[in-house]
Amino acid sequence: MADCIFCKIVAGQIPSARVYEDATKLAFMDIGPIQPGHVLLIPKAHFERLTDLPAEVAADLAACLPRLARAVVAAARADGFNLMQTNGTCAGQSVAHVHFHIIPRRNDDGYRFHWQPTAYKPGEMESWRAKIAAEVVRAQA
Ligand code: 5GP
Ligand code: ZN
Repeated sequence: MADCIFCKIVAGQIPSARVYEDATKLAFMDIGPIQPGHVLLIPKAHFERLTDLPAEVAADLAACLPRLARAVVAAARADGFNLMQTNGTCAGQSVAHVHFHIIPRRNDDGYRFHWQPTAYKPGEMESWRAKIAAEVVRAQA
């Protein structure tokens, strides 16, 4: 994709700090880390969203995540990590090339996501369950 910044990184047209790559995927340092050591994993082929990925591309990326996360945690001497993935501007996606964030976390890092749980009204969860379960059947694998 000509206008895609991550495709340009894959092609070497703009620089990146690479930590791992193979024929199909690339991991590199996020230029604006939530915490130091924040890494991005992308497929080398251009797909916008997770929902655009063929199952084999998704499986290839997912298989790499535990190894990459272990490396990030070890290098950062972290206590844990967040795995983040955004789809659509409404969800905070600013680069339209699918990517996984691996963010090392420490017990004392002071960072907090604004994650504010709400509650379902009676019957509401069941209504959502039924709608989503029906879509899972309809959706292609
Ligand atoms: P999103 O907001 O789409 O979930 O994540 C995109 C991420 O890409 C952001 O965390 C941002 O800091 C990172 N990013 C944007 N442009 C560049 C770039 O040119 N180089 C690198 N290494 N990271 C980038
Ligand atoms: Zn791209």
